[in-house]
Amino acid sequence: MDVNSIIQGCEKIFNIASDIKNSELLEEICSLKKAIYELTEENVQLKKELANKNKYNMKPEQNYYANYNEDGNLEGKYCTHCYDAENLAIRLNEYEKGKYYCPHCKNSYQERRTI
Ligand SMILES: [Zn+2]
Repeated sequence: MDVNSIIQGCEKIFNIASDIKNSELLEEICSLKKAIYELTEENVQLKKELANKNKYNMKPEQNYYANYNEDGNLEGKYCTHCYDAENLAIRLNEYEKGKYYCPHCKNSYQERRTI
């Protein structure tokens, strides 16, 4: 059963409750419809996030995310804040050797030196 079928079922129950003038049932159906809409919106958002997560192969390195392509080569460095908090894959710009900034949130990143 898809969401539209569930909503149509709610509409039928709503109309029946309206015909028999059962206000308690009408309120329950309205609450149920609202919950269905909220779950539908959440589901759409989660599908978008999952599609975005599957698009990248992010590995935490240094203090940013490094994305590797299918061959295992480094494709780019990405902002951890934007990826974790906003689900946005924003490639970091290098403004000086080993120093980067995010063009979206303006966070700056500096590679730690390894010996
Ligand atoms: Zn950012």
